Amino acid sequence: MQIVVIGAGVVGASIATRLAQRGAVVTLVDQGLPGTGTSSTSFAWINANGKEPESYYALNLAGLRAHHGLGGNEEWLRPGGHVEIAVDEAHVRHLRGRMERLVARGYAVEEIGADRARELLPDVVVPDQADTIAYFPQEAYCFPLLYLARMLAEGRAAGVTLRDNTGVVALDPDGDGARVTLSDGTVLRADAVVSAVGRRTSELAALAGATVPMAGFTEPGDVTVGYLLRTIPLPVRLSRVLTTPWLNVRPDGGGRLLLQALDLDATADPAAVPAPDSPLVEDYLERLRAVVPNAGSARIAEVVVGQRVIPADGLTVAGRLPEIPWLYAVATHSGVTLAPLLGAAVAGELFGEEEPLLADFRPDRFAEGAQIVAPSSPRKPGEQ
Ligand SMILES: Cc1cc2nc3c(=O)[nH]c(=O)nc-3n(C[C@H](O)[C@H](O)[C@H](O)COP(=O)(O)OP(=O)(O)OC[C@H]3O[C@@H](n4cnc5c(N)ncnc54)[C@H](O)[C@@H]3O)c2cc1C
Repeated sequence: MQIVVIGAGVVGASIATRLAQRGAVVTLVDQGLPGTGTSSTSFAWINANGKEPESYYALNLAGLRAHHGLGGNEEWLRPGGHVEIAVDEAHVRHLRGRMERLVARGYAVEEIGADRARELLPDVVVPDQADTIAYFPQEAYCFPLLYLARMLAEGRAAGVTLRDNTGVVALDPDGDGARVTLSDGTVLRADAVVSAVGRRTSELAALAGATVPMAGFTEPGDVTVGYLLRTIPLPVRLSRVLTTPWLNVRPDGGGRLLLQALDLDATADPAAVPAPDSPLVEDYLERLRAVVPNAGSARIAEVVVGQRVIPADGLTVAGRLPEIPWLYAVATHSGVTLAPLLGAAVAGELFGEEEPLLADFRPDRFAEGAQIVAPSSPRKPGEQ
């Protein structure tokens, strides 16, 4: 079976690799270099924490387990769990409700006291007035580009041909399969095509005459955009994800920290990225110093505005497009959590093994006239 996978982010590279390992002849095409889409601007917290409804939770839980299950030298994955500290009333109520649902589902979560939190987060100020502190021991964070490197290496070993810096510009039916035209004029024949082009999914589907509605950037601070700030290396002991009402923090290698503050995303605009010495950045640093006193010397090395991959109803899309059986589309937020699972599951589906976990996420739910409830911003605690 000849398959063209379009998009070499964490999702497309995982699918290409698993397909090749099952014996398909795979070409992985990207208009840029691998990993330069949303995969390089991610908080990359691996979790099923605030994921609703039930089927989306189940999918993310399978994603979390798939990361832990990959075995070998998991150079990209940092287990160690996640601690969430809630102080204000609204956050406490939200966290307690979420914990109740997660406990009922058997998800690993425990309420802990301030002393245990201080053990887990030795350099973090755990406020005495913290009303609820939750520890999610199986959650993790990852380095998406290291995960991608591993997938690309496994893919190469299994025979995947990578064509980077080459966009797909046309998709046409050809017998039971398709002709895929690349920007350099090459035409590839494929029995099946997988679209894993992230936030470009609507445009790619349109090349085949199909519709997959995605949430697009409309105004600063909408649900599709979010800041991520990377510090210089700091003398701070932190080995897990920390989320608080003011700041989400995780290690980013070599003493660097990655910062996210969902309420400060209100001004995020991909066309106007603040400089590392802007007043907005000072807000983040103030919050960081309040949470981690050892971060007194912190400066920000990099500010990015990440652009989320969000299908119109906020949930994953995975399946063959109605009327175009040769074109399989995958697009999702939480794609870092889901990549290992989607790699194996989508490859299985292309080999005829239907994956029950994907049943609620078929593209035909966007048929004309369907009611679509769009996701809203700002994002809530437990989201990313
Ligand atoms: C601020 C922020 C925080 C996030 N935090 C988390 C988190 O904590 N946990 C989590 O699990 N997820 C998180 N995410 C989401 C996650 O990063 C994404 O879901 C994931 O990276 C999507 O990967 P992808 O491979 O689908 O897309 P991408 O990485 O965008 O890859 C798509 C690729 O397709 C290529 N492409 C596009 N069009 C074409 C074309 N016509 N021809 C050829 N190639 C094409 C692009 O060049 C790109 O390389 C976050 C995202 C953001 C923005």
